[in-house]
Amino acid sequence: MGRLQTEQDNVPGLLYLLSDVSSQVTGTELHISGGCNHFYAALHDNLKIINLITVSILFKQGLFPMIPVEEAKRLVLDSISKLEIERMPILESLGRVLAQDIKATDDIPVYDNSAMDGYAVIANDVKGADESYPVRLVIAGGSIPAGKLTGKKIDPGYCVPIMTGGMMPEGADAVVIKEDVQRDGKSILVFREVMKGENVRYRGEDIKKGDIVLRSHNSLSPASVGVLASLGISRVKTFRPPVIGVIVTGNELIEINKKLNKAKVRDSNSYTLSAQVETAGARYNRYGIVADDEALIRKNIEKALKENDIILISGGTSMGEYDLVRDTLEEMNADLIFWRVSQKPGRPLTLYRIEGKPIFGLPGNPVSVMVCFEMYVRPLIRKMMGFNELFRPLIKAEALHEFRNKKGRTSFARVVLENKDGKYFFSSTGINGAGMLTSMVKANAIACFPPDMGYVKKGTIMEVHKIGCL
Ligand code: AMP
Ligand code: MG
Repeated sequence: MGRLQTEQDNVPGLLYLLSDVSSQVTGTELHISGGCNHFYAALHDNLKIINLITVSILFKQGLFPMIPVEEAKRLVLDSISKLEIERMPILESLGRVLAQDIKATDDIPVYDNSAMDGYAVIANDVKGADESYPVRLVIAGGSIPAGKLTGKKIDPGYCVPIMTGGMMPEGADAVVIKEDVQRDGKSILVFREVMKGENVRYRGEDIKKGDIVLRSHNSLSPASVGVLASLGISRVKTFRPPVIGVIVTGNELIEINKKLNKAKVRDSNSYTLSAQVETAGARYNRYGIVADDEALIRKNIEKALKENDIILISGGTSMGEYDLVRDTLEEMNADLIFWRVSQKPGRPLTLYRIEGKPIFGLPGNPVSVMVCFEMYVRPLIRKMMGFNELFRPLIKAEALHEFRNKKGRTSFARVVLENKDGKYFFSSTGINGAGMLTSMVKANAIACFPPDMGYVKKGTIMEVHKIGCL
């Protein structure tokens, strides 16, 4: 399906949309550039009431069906099916997501040992010991350090000095700490009783051989890296985080070190997008500013396709004369997944695919681009990173004031979420324009008002997406 600019161009595009009724339309060649089932379905349902000419006019005016947010989210996540796996040294795996279950091949600890420096004893021998009635035990031999095999055994009335990590001698079932003991030549006085098992770390009490200690699809923390080390595992399989190419388009854009004049805008989108990619846990490549020129846009997309798994293009996806991103992608025979979502901000959001790689046409407006990244790109990155949990946590919160809101499309309100006495509340950042980036600096949550919601009353309780710290 092309971007339809003239009445004539419309014919093949519309016929494609209507491909299953194409048998009724003879003598016209169909140009089919990719899957676009939702457009087709929407048209098909309405086929009886909308004739081709009406449809072509709607198309030209950009009024042709926008897909709902939930559908767009699903199509984005479905645009990738295969996740890539890499085997790597455990320290390099930090922050990545495991692509295998880890089964313990040893008990940890592998032997019963002392948790403290002190004396290995038989708990029953020191029952009732206290400051006024210390119990005397005979030292049975030299001290047991950590890391040394011991064949020692103690009988009732005896004890052995033992260090933290030292192997418990046979017969002993507790450790009295050094501070509760007074040494007296070849014997000790114990001033405090201990229970059986006190200050002893038993074999397998941390990890039992055969247990699944770390599960696939969970991220690796410093503690998980430590567990892998303690099990003697030096390399693990993880999901490879995607590499994201960031392209910004617009004749008005200038580099950030350039002086502004009245008609120019410093490029902030490539910075916010790259920063968002990095905070999502993936890597980015920036391709600088690209003018509104099909050949230049194409050159950059082609280069980015070689170097990345996902491409983000900001600007140039709506209906303006200089919005050439979709034309370029059509020219490149990219598969259109969707164009235009019934949402505010971010209506022109577009998704194409080339060689299995998703290419997002993101809006140019600095807030819209960030919101689209949050709602669509970040979950896809997380899917590719191997996470089970793709979306931001939802927090039930109460609206501190009314929100004017239009029915018929999803609205993403940038809000300030706060916790007062254990209850969550949200309020507007006070700045609403899609170009006002400072609203995103203030926002720590996004409230999604669904299409059927309309005006939001003060006191409305709903779930908001927490995107930052409280
Ligand atoms: P467009 O979607 O190309 O029509 O752009 C919409 C608005 O976003 C315009 O006002 C642009 O100046 C602005 N814009 C586009 N790209 C960027 C960018 N990289 N950084 C900051 N603003 C941008
Ligand atoms: Mg533009």
